[in-house]
Amino acid sequence: MVENVAGKWLTRNHRKQIELVVAHSHLHSDHVAGDEQLKNLQSPSITIDFVPATVEASKKLYRITNWPDGIGSVDLGGRVLDVIAIPGHSPVSIALYDRRTAILFSGDSLYPGRLYVHDWADSVKITQRLVDFTKGTLVAHILGCHIEQITTPYLDYPIGTIYQPHEHGLAISRGDLLELNEALASLHRVSTRLALRDFSIWSVPADSRLHGKAKEKFESHQKKQREHMWDQSAAQ
Ligand SMILES: [Zn+2]
Ligand SMILES: [Zn+2]
Repeated sequence: MVENVAGKWLTRNHRKQIELVVAHSHLHSDHVAGDEQLKNLQSPSITIDFVPATVEASKKLYRITNWPDGIGSVDLGGRVLDVIAIPGHSPVSIALYDRRTAILFSGDSLYPGRLYVHDWADSVKITQRLVDFTKGTLVAHILGCHIEQITTPYLDYPIGTIYQPHEHGLAISRGDLLELNEALASLHRVSTRLALRDFSIWSVPADSRLHGKAKEKFESHQKKQREHMWDQSAAQ
């Protein structure tokens, strides 16, 4: 996949080699699962600068001396990305701002879906940090890493859904960031779920594994989805 995309890019740009920087929005398994494959990639046209998802490696690459308050940056070669440390969803979460396209990449901290809040105080802090960073700055789109929202306002797909025929677009706006900030500041408490128009807030208890009925529901929903993978008429 990486070789394929990089290969097309090289052909289009009449180049023989590309150096890729592999960094992470945060260290959850769904975001680092491909690391081993990338580390073992043997391609004469691709060299990989692999940056592990640790605070130390992130501080060094992004030149953030006072983690997490300082704003860092990384120059990809005439293309500077600003880096905002947003530890909360996970201890080494970062957001990236591409000055050329005015896109803010928010990782798992903000996307059209269920925003899992592991630490309420940290989430309040990092959301405010993103609001402050984007104040007076162009934000064309905010792009996160998941979609769990349906196009119908206030609704998300059940946990475990694989086939999402009417999903919300990935892009959301700074208005959504402001809405999240306001909601977190006004709720003042944990163990809360709140559905908003284009995303929802899910406070995660210390033991976040699914148990009992919730686990059964998740498993039967996934089973049904897998059985109907190529025939989704029953799932609609
Ligand atoms: Zn995550
Ligand atoms: Zn994720």
